Amino acid sequence: MTTRREFVQALPAVGTAFAVAGHLVLDDSPANAQTQPQAPTPLKGHFHPKGKAPSKYTLEILKKARGGLPFADTRDFDEQKKGLIAPMKDLKIMADAGHVAWDMERFQFLDKQDDFDSIHPSLLRQSKLNNNYGLYEVIPGIYQVRGFDLSDITFVRGKTGWIVFDPLISAEPVRAAWKLFQQHVGQGLPVSALIYSHTHGDHWGGVRGIVDEADVRSGKIPIIAPIDFMDFTISENVYAGNAMNRRLFYQYGLLLPASPHGYVGQGLGQGVSAGATGLIAPTRYVEKDIEEFEVDGVRMIFQNTPNTEAPREMNTYIPDMKALWMAENVIASLHNIYTLRGAPVRDPLNWSKYIGEALFRFGLDAQVMFASHHWPRWGNERIQEVLRGQRDLYAHMNNQVLHLANQGVTINQIHNVYEVPKGLQNKWFCRGYHGSPEHNSRGVIQRYLGFWDCNPTTLIPLSPGDSAPLYVEMMGGGQKILARGRQLHNEGRYLHAQEIVNKLVQAEPQNQAAKDLLADIFEQLGYQQENPGLRNSYLAAAYELRTGIPQGETASSSGPDVVRAMSTELFLNFLGIRMDSRKAEGMRFTMNLITPDNGEKFIVELENATLTNIKGFQASNPNLTLTINRSDLEQTMMGAKTLEAQLADGTAKVQGDVNILKQLAATFVDFDPRFEIMPGTKARGAKVAKAKDYEAIPRQTIAE
Ligand SMILES: [Zn+2]
Repeated sequence: MTTRREFVQALPAVGTAFAVAGHLVLDDSPANAQTQPQAPTPLKGHFHPKGKAPSKYTLEILKKARGGLPFADTRDFDEQKKGLIAPMKDLKIMADAGHVAWDMERFQFLDKQDDFDSIHPSLLRQSKLNNNYGLYEVIPGIYQVRGFDLSDITFVRGKTGWIVFDPLISAEPVRAAWKLFQQHVGQGLPVSALIYSHTHGDHWGGVRGIVDEADVRSGKIPIIAPIDFMDFTISENVYAGNAMNRRLFYQYGLLLPASPHGYVGQGLGQGVSAGATGLIAPTRYVEKDIEEFEVDGVRMIFQNTPNTEAPREMNTYIPDMKALWMAENVIASLHNIYTLRGAPVRDPLNWSKYIGEALFRFGLDAQVMFASHHWPRWGNERIQEVLRGQRDLYAHMNNQVLHLANQGVTINQIHNVYEVPKGLQNKWFCRGYHGSPEHNSRGVIQRYLGFWDCNPTTLIPLSPGDSAPLYVEMMGGGQKILARGRQLHNEGRYLHAQEIVNKLVQAEPQNQAAKDLLADIFEQLGYQQENPGLRNSYLAAAYELRTGIPQGETASSSGPDVVRAMSTELFLNFLGIRMDSRKAEGMRFTMNLITPDNGEKFIVELENATLTNIKGFQASNPNLTLTINRSDLEQTMMGAKTLEAQLADGTAKVQGDVNILKQLAATFVDFDPRFEIMPGTKARGAKVAKAKDYEAIPRQTIAE
């Protein structure tokens, strides 16, 4: 038996081993800058010293796209401008912590030219539309502040104050939005209720910028959300959080400067704000499929739409204003069925059906339709056009992809076969500014059939790094591949070029000439994309191939609200993922965990190099019993107070072999938030910055 004192003394570097939060800040410092002579020559004015101009092939593709798109339809621009009350004058919104939380200055270049030769004309159009920045009237009594974040914030006039829909990602932009709103429209009336339309972080993270938690607790300001909201706010992002965070660097181009050759917006909005995030739990849940009640004197009909754009989401109809809120189920884009940062594939047929239901339940009557991204639609004809188009877009993707799959088209072919029907291609709001037809169609097959194309070669294939040397050998070596790769590149056959040059990079991660050529190929492919997630992914990979993965500090900034929203079971499950089971071979223990303040009990067992937990049970003869209030455990989960400190001051109590905690802590691994994606991009000799232990949700909220 070890005493608590002995345990505390025996703890070497356990430190914050039981912490769960923290976030990642990367700097821009190039870590691996090398110069290699390259053809074609670098472009002056490009943000990267190795960056290239769009090739004549890329120019041709963009020109063709320009000719084939419905530019005569300018209704989006009319709708986007309609109802402007006041533009926002400050192009930057500062965070309380001193940095810039939101920066529209960097997108001003988009409006300086009609066209850019390195931006797909359709994406440019969307990014110009997303440059709206200010306060807008939807109809008298409904107002939106747009362009303050990835999402929009909406204010609906209630009997006593303002009902707020979806308070953005972080508090500072919300505060700025509320200030602008109050200057022109708000009449000094308070917030009277708040609605979270769904579980994604860009729809609740800024809540503390507009309401005081005490007012929520006292019942003065209700917060309304779809059923099971709290269960899904973060659970979607925890288990694979570090991987998702890394992938966001590609999908959201986090390292790319805003530039005609870099980041040009995210399609849903211009980007993700970087202020303080928080979460206040809802006080009223919409439980039934359809539920009607008054919110601050305004009659609202809520339609739950689970497992559509988000695991939990709801549309809202305000019959007395004939106003239909479509949350994020209907926006000015094809949305993600599969999201590139990684998430379970969504159900497009279910999604389509809920849009269809909204159409026939509310859409035949509605006179205005608004949502949490983009701009409203006015007039019933237009509303029906958009609802029907979006309904068909998701249903078609589901049906036609499966139609093709049923004829033998595989996940490795579908993106080259599937096409959105012509009628929908000509509707701007069906184009792929978030989801692309390519990655969504693969997602549909993934959902129904999984990754395997049924060719046994792909059942247990070699890893890319293991198969590549054989290819390189059989192709006659690196020089031949480089020569042929450059030729394909110079002919504009970029997809062919990437096939072989990638093999060389996989086989020879330190071959900078190969990496530079692959970067040039990716860059052209990036310029050619209409979809910002695809563009950013190509350009981000090009950046890392040229420069290496930037090394920066990882900063801790615990998100107490988000940690609080994490159930103890989710936390324990995540510990099982943090454990490197290879370090746990031969270990065995049974532990009881008791959190008296919320009445929860768990058995936690380590056996067979596997950490499991089961809620609601207690072992009769545990090796250790740990008793700690859930509220205190949160301090440890967020890294504010170590478990050893909790034990030392008696906040946590143990009975039994306390050494178990030490052994357990030694099996946990810090996930590096900058793991290598493209071979040979990790800066050699660079110090690996240590992630906060248990970093699960590095930016605290993953927006969508
Ligand atoms: Zn969103």
